[in-house]
Amino acid sequence: MKSYVFPGDIDESIMQIGAQPFLYMRTDAFSEINKESERILLDLIHCTGGRTIIYTGSGTGAMSAVVENYCTTKKKAFVIDGGSFGHRWFQLCEYYGVPAVDYTVPFAKEIDYADLESSIAKEQPDVFLCQHHETSSGQLFDLKEISRICHKYQVSLVVDVISSFLAEELSMDDLDLDICVTSTQKGLNIPPGLSVLFFSKKLDNYRFNHKGYYWDFDDNFSNLKRGQTPYSPATILYLQLHARLKQLQAEGGEQKNIEEVHRRARYFRTLCQQYGWDIPAENPSMAITGFQTRDTSERRIFKGLIEKYETYIMPGSIPGFYRVSHMGLQSDEELDQLAQRIHEFE
Ligand SMILES: *Cc1c(COP(=O)(O)O)cnc(C)c1O
Repeated sequence: MKSYVFPGDIDESIMQIGAQPFLYMRTDAFSEINKESERILLDLIHCTGGRTIIYTGSGTGAMSAVVENYCTTKKKAFVIDGGSFGHRWFQLCEYYGVPAVDYTVPFAKEIDYADLESSIAKEQPDVFLCQHHETSSGQLFDLKEISRICHKYQVSLVVDVISSFLAEELSMDDLDLDICVTSTQKGLNIPPGLSVLFFSKKLDNYRFNHKGYYWDFDDNFSNLKRGQTPYSPATILYLQLHARLKQLQAEGGEQKNIEEVHRRARYFRTLCQQYGWDIPAENPSMAITGFQTRDTSERRIFKGLIEKYETYIMPGSIPGFYRVSHMGLQSDEELDQLAQRIHEFE
């Protein structure tokens, strides 16, 4: 089996942890692991003096937590809706009754930042929700521009970096971000099931709301002081996360991983060019390649690859549009073979 979806193929030593006996969570040993994971995570995203919450739950759980605990304390949210993940922020705001502006951006297009700035000036929101990388199209947004606008109009900036963390350059300090969200099955390249929230030091004394029992920030923060979680954590995933973070730490941080993701993406894109597949994203992220084949029947290539080669790629919302993740382990030879096989079904 070969996987070009999330999380893609995973390092063997990380997979092995899932087959071993694991420690009990209410121990000092578990607390130490949890605290060390927090320290490494904050280093990797450059969030000096910040805090994290690691949740047992996928990325959407953590997005929901942000809206329940934080956005409900605000008067008006402003959402960049550039695809299905951006739209999810908007739906969460609607669900929890947070007034929100749904700022739509056409599929795979860059934001018109001048227009965005005038909308912010007009709407006067106090919290801004966006994606760094809108994974549904492969479009990467310009966080420097977004951050500049948010700071000019004093809007708190929350970014879903679920599919850009460890795949693209990212510094919470430099961009002055308030909250970031990620999850384990993307750039971290371990199984799905955990999500991570990063909080800037500026939010140390913030009075969060209490609108969601399970995801309550203050309850989590008070348990985390002892390295514990309020409820049973997915212990094995916490161990896999810790082991993966130690690997990244041993590599000297996130740089090597980011370079490798970029190298794979560049290589696969030369193959797309050879086969004449267009990459519609105006400013494509390196985390995945979203490309348009000549396949006109929905999912033919997707299904063919599974049936004949036990290989997964991601189908997109448009017939013939597929996505290949570069965040899992993959060699140039494997990418050559993948492109050939996609072409075979085309
Ligand atoms: C994967 C992803 C999510 C979260 O999805 P889950 O399935 O809940 O982990 C959210 N936002 C983006 C940009 C993503 O790529």
